[in-house]
Amino acid sequence: MTHDNRPLFAANWKMHKGPVATREFVAEFTSCYEPSEDRRVVVFPPSISVEAFRLAAVDRPDLGVGVQDVHAEAAGAHTGAISASMAVEAGAAWSLAGHSERRREFGDDDRLVSRKVQRVLASGLLPVVCVGETLEERDSGALTEVLERQVAAVLSAVEHKAHGDLTWAYEPVWAIGTGRTASPEDAAEAHAIVRNALAGGAGAALGKGATILYGGSVKPGNIKSLMEAPGVNGVLVGGASLEPGDFAAICKCPLG
Ligand code: PEP
Repeated sequence: MTHDNRPLFAANWKMHKGPVATREFVAEFTSCYEPSEDRRVVVFPPSISVEAFRLAAVDRPDLGVGVQDVHAEAAGAHTGAISASMAVEAGAAWSLAGHSERRREFGDDDRLVSRKVQRVLASGLLPVVCVGETLEERDSGALTEVLERQVAAVLSAVEHKAHGDLTWAYEPVWAIGTGRTASPEDAAEAHAIVRNALAGGAGAALGKGATILYGGSVKPGNIKSLMEAPGVNGVLVGGASLEPGDFAAICKCPLG
């Protein structure tokens, strides 16, 4: 795969918007966001709405779509789960892995996240691997250790030739859905830690060229300062991505 390093604006809808609301979103979003060659836009709806998104956005190939999670196994007796190949069949090109809500609510630890990333890559989806520290970890001085551990677990599970296919999202857990945003300085510091960990595990060139998103209470009012922070190559947006106008305003952020 050729690495596309244009800035990436991604929406994580979590458990919001079924197929009907998804079609309504696409109609409104496409009326206020024109295709733009210098950036990428990807939406992660609930998996049940992926096909509705793809069909509603059939005239907008600039808008990517992905799933929020897949099972680590290819198929089998896993009631309620979806496989990576089903996600591909529904039109997804991307998958999140390791979101903090999965880690907290569903027991997705480093090992399981790594197995999911392997599965995502094997099925031809592009993973966005989420890493980030809790407030307790940050306050106890463990920021670097936590990020290095989360990055290393995934790198060691993935063949070197696929390291360049990984997109990363730094999402401080204390800033997700809390309205509390990391300052641009906090984001820059954490992105540098992730980038160094990537350089250490995958090589200097991959560390330098990796796409690392920031996520955590991103809004139209703070997107510009976050995108200007050194090492921030895009954003993963939760709450503010549910409103088509707000997400369009975020995606239209001027690039320096
Ligand atoms: C997220 O869920 O990935 C996220 C960053 O959420 P929010 O923007 O609502 O903090």
